[in-house]
Amino acid sequence: MQDYQSILNDIYNKLSKKEDKGTVASYIPELKHVDRNAFGIHLQVIGDKTYGAGQYAEKFSIQSISKVLTLAKAISIEGHNLWERVDVEPSGNPFNYLSLLEQENGIPRNPLINTGALVIADILVSQLENPKQDFLNFVRQLANDDSINYNEKVAKSEKETGYRNYAGANLLKSFGNLKNDVDEVLDFYFHQCSIEMTCEQLTKTLYVFANKGACMLEKVHLKKSQTKRINAIMLTCGFYDEAGEFAFEVGLPGKSGVGGGIVALLPKEFVISVWSPGLNAKGNSKLGMQALEIFTTKTNLSIF
Ligand code: GLU
Repeated sequence: MQDYQSILNDIYNKLSKKEDKGTVASYIPELKHVDRNAFGIHLQVIGDKTYGAGQYAEKFSIQSISKVLTLAKAISIEGHNLWERVDVEPSGNPFNYLSLLEQENGIPRNPLINTGALVIADILVSQLENPKQDFLNFVRQLANDDSINYNEKVAKSEKETGYRNYAGANLLKSFGNLKNDVDEVLDFYFHQCSIEMTCEQLTKTLYVFANKGACMLEKVHLKKSQTKRINAIMLTCGFYDEAGEFAFEVGLPGKSGVGGGIVALLPKEFVISVWSPGLNAKGNSKLGMQALEIFTTKTNLSIF
């Protein structure tokens, strides 16, 4: 039996003292107010105990991690028809790269880059009766936690500065791969990115992907085959143009966001979340990557 608590304590003690913590994202002005010294880590073992160290109960902006949750909701509605509008190939490019330009067919490379996530947002705007409220309810049900919410200030801040996302949405529209009004889809997208969670809430929300589609209360939200596909996409596309490095160093499916959060999982074994707001040059949490590398090395637990 592994002593998870002392492994998390060691990671916290080692990393939270580091001087070189990376750079807090400031291109969304509201995100730059965060405490760059914050560091939290939380582990949920499937069907067993939880462990935490540092500020694992403090909320942060999940940003792109929300793309996994919109993908889950869209797959649960559309099934595999979804793949007619978005591809499943790693992009090897930054999150905001307008990579559908290269393909000239308006099909984004994958659902975890911004243009791909905008297509998924468009599907949800078409399919849900009250898109923002229904999606939030879905997330709350996965986590079994009604306190999870949007941060309106962050959504507004991103709307005011989201020029590239406007460009991406308009480009998709020109290809006919965005069915709804551009502003409506972007409003949904900016809100999904503004969701706030603690590390603890994040591990609980992602539990379904490590538990064959069932949440912590064993209620089934996704088919086993759907979680298998989403995990594969997280492994190959979850870390912008650093997905290869994350697989190499950590060896788990996962997803990062520019708020400094990373969540990763080993199916049937555990879900782990880490938050440290400073990012590396590729936009992933600098200490978060290091924390997960230490965790999988010390526990000898990864998909490889
Ligand atoms: N809301 C952010 C954007 O679209 C998400 C970026 C991220 O976390 O990767 O720019």
